Amino acid sequence: MYVKECEGCEEKIDDKFRICEYSGFILNHAIQDKSKNRFPYELGHLVLMPRKRKESINGLKHATDTTNLTKSELQGICELLPTILDTMKDVLPSIKGDGIERIYLATFNEDEKWHFHIHLVPRYKCEPRRGTALLTPRVVPDEDIDQVVKEMKRKLGCNSQITNRG
Ligand SMILES: [Zn+2]
Repeated sequence: MYVKECEGCEEKIDDKFRICEYSGFILNHAIQDKSKNRFPYELGHLVLMPRKRKESINGLKHATDTTNLTKSELQGICELLPTILDTMKDVLPSIKGDGIERIYLATFNEDEKWHFHIHLVPRYKCEPRRGTALLTPRVVPDEDIDQVVKEMKRKLGCNSQITNRG
């Protein structure tokens, strides 16, 4: 299913934020766009959402929560997450210049059409414990985001084509 005017279904995510397109999901760095007042919660804040390419035979996948996902889509998420988390732990510390204390998974959603997505938000060792206050937009260096996307792509082996996982 595809929902018109849904940010998750329709939004053109600039390639500079795109890390990987799996068969049913996309993984990107949270968007930083000063003109739209959109910022990540942290350097390395990633977003995994179910979505199919517009040109794919089944159209785009719109799900409001996990109850709208098929068993195989849920299995896809479960298979992908450990690899993505391990890769974040591998890639982010040298770019941030600090170790990762934790990575939080959050699925809250305030967009109008409620397109299910998972936020993966690292808390670095230098950060104090802040609980849900961690989920506060902040400006991070654009060149660091570029570096995260580049290195995550390289380590995940996602350099252009869609992979079959997920
Ligand atoms: Zn949608």
